[in-house]
Amino acid sequence: MNAARARRHGLAGLEFLEGIPGSVGGALRMNAGAMGAATFDRVEHIRFMDFGGGLHQLPTTEVHAKYRSCPLLKDNIALGAVFKGEPASPEEIAEKMKQFCGKRWNSQPAAPSAGCIFKNTPLMPAGKLVDELCLKGLRVGGAAVSDVHGNFIVNDNKATARDVLNLIEIVRQKVRDMRGIDLETEVEIVGEDSPKNSTASELIAKHSPDLLETK
Ligand SMILES: Cc1cc2nc3c(=O)[nH]c(=O)nc-3n(C[C@H](O)[C@H](O)[C@H](O)COP(=O)(O)OP(=O)(O)OC[C@H]3O[C@@H](n4cnc5c(N)ncnc54)[C@H](O)[C@@H]3O)c2cc1C
Repeated sequence: MNAARARRHGLAGLEFLEGIPGSVGGALRMNAGAMGAATFDRVEHIRFMDFGGGLHQLPTTEVHAKYRSCPLLKDNIALGAVFKGEPASPEEIAEKMKQFCGKRWNSQPAAPSAGCIFKNTPLMPAGKLVDELCLKGLRVGGAAVSDVHGNFIVNDNKATARDVLNLIEIVRQKVRDMRGIDLETEVEIVGEDSPKNSTASELIAKHSPDLLETK
């Protein structure tokens, strides 16, 4: 919505927000990004409230946002932000948004998902890692690692939160075993207890015993 609003006003630079669902507050907290850009690349300053009700304003240079996280907003509530852009014609902006949209739909699943599950690693994108380890299609209950993009878990048959959490744990364990890399989740897990009652090895034995043979 913000990308579309910027387009209407002839403000370029926010096209990457196209297709990222959510509010400005969520985008700031997660430092949401796509297509090589992230929210704080385009923010001048933010306004926020601490849990005591105090109001504050900080320029981006003092916010210290990181890849897919703004730690400051863990303990504060974002109230608003001033975004920056450059003047361009709405037609040019629309064309760029169309390209980004095409790229997204060509590389990401259309099935219901929570977006990218894992943060990319310094070595390679998480999806490529999952793909290389042949974990696409891996399934727990109604949740499956997408065949289209390895960093998406799709709900293709009434998946429960537990199915998704167990599948996340299996993928993490497999990547740890085979590559020695600890994948960090990009999604925030809330409202559920920590990912399992069983260990990851027990989950693999229960849901994907064939993976034990490829270890
Ligand atoms: C299909 C799909 C595609 C996606 N693609 C992308 C993508 O390309 N790039 C990307 O980065 N993300 C992507 N996401 C993830 C998600 O859209 C982003 O993280 C988005 O910024 C979340 O915004 P939200 O408003 O839904 O926040 P929520 O998911 O509701 O909340 C996220 C976190 O922000 C906190 N929060 C929310 N509002 C505030 C506030 N005002 N102040 C402080 N904290 C707050 C919440 O407490 C929570 O911890 C995708 C998700 C889906 C489902």
